[in-house]
Amino acid sequence: MNQYRVLLYYKYVTIENPEEFTAQHKEFCDSLGLKGRILIASEGINGTVSGTVEQTSQYMDTMKKDPRFEDMVYKIDEANEHAFPKMKVRHRPELVTLRLEDDVNPNKTTGEYLDPKEFYKRLQDEDTVVLDARNDYEYDLGHFRGAIKPDIENFRDLPQWVRENKEILEGKKIITYCTGGIRCEKFSGWLVKEGFEDVGQLHGGIVTYGKDPEVQGELWDGQLYVFDERIGVPVNQKEHVVVGKDYFSGEPCERYVNCANPFCNKKILCSEENEHKYLRSCSHECRTHERNRYIIEHDLTEEEVAERMEKIKETEKA
Ligand SMILES: [Zn+2]
Repeated sequence: MNQYRVLLYYKYVTIENPEEFTAQHKEFCDSLGLKGRILIASEGINGTVSGTVEQTSQYMDTMKKDPRFEDMVYKIDEANEHAFPKMKVRHRPELVTLRLEDDVNPNKTTGEYLDPKEFYKRLQDEDTVVLDARNDYEYDLGHFRGAIKPDIENFRDLPQWVRENKEILEGKKIITYCTGGIRCEKFSGWLVKEGFEDVGQLHGGIVTYGKDPEVQGELWDGQLYVFDERIGVPVNQKEHVVVGKDYFSGEPCERYVNCANPFCNKKILCSEENEHKYLRSCSHECRTHERNRYIIEHDLTEEEVAERMEKIKETEKA
């Protein structure tokens, strides 16, 4: 039990020859036997990897010897197995995709760092707007109580959303949060550049907040969406309020599946029962798509598909 660990970490720091470093780093990770996903850019590193306690310790020890990464902070989760199918190390132009005309260097411009205790206090301040800096499907599985959900599918759409919804934020204190903190470093910096005066960010992200011995994840509802095979992890150690809703029935639900139409692939919360009832598809178009994965996996005949469709029609009428 618990012989594995999942590490989550990032550091904004200049990396010379990022492509060369990417190739070396991939070799290094493979030699340790780690699995996961690491992004490398000239602006830094962003990674999440799984491995045994020994493998992950070796990784952190070696990284600490590199002056660029000696103070990098690791969020560590215990696990019983690998959380990723393979090891991917990729070179990217940006660590988080914002594609700003005028890029932000978080080492120069960023929102005020708030530790979990301070963030917890600000969550309860009436003049403070709490802005979730993540995607809609992450918010839907869990979020801070009272947080605003920007209706965006991609992080890069967030600046545009802010400009279109300025009236919500103007004259208010703003606090932002994301999974591990990396997106907020840039986003809160962008808010400061955009002219918002009182901008704070949850330092270390939701992951750190959930592990804090004092706040223990309080005022968080639901689960934290994570980008590995676990999909959801707990945050609030004191109570668990389910906020996720079944896409089809609206019932409380924390089970994510991907739409069976490979060209849609939308993340939908749904019970096992509704997965079968709706052929794990988000719409009529997706259910009837010729490449529908559910139909292929379950080897359904045309008659069987027709039967299921008939059943949903009846429910919709009723
Ligand atoms: Zn779909």
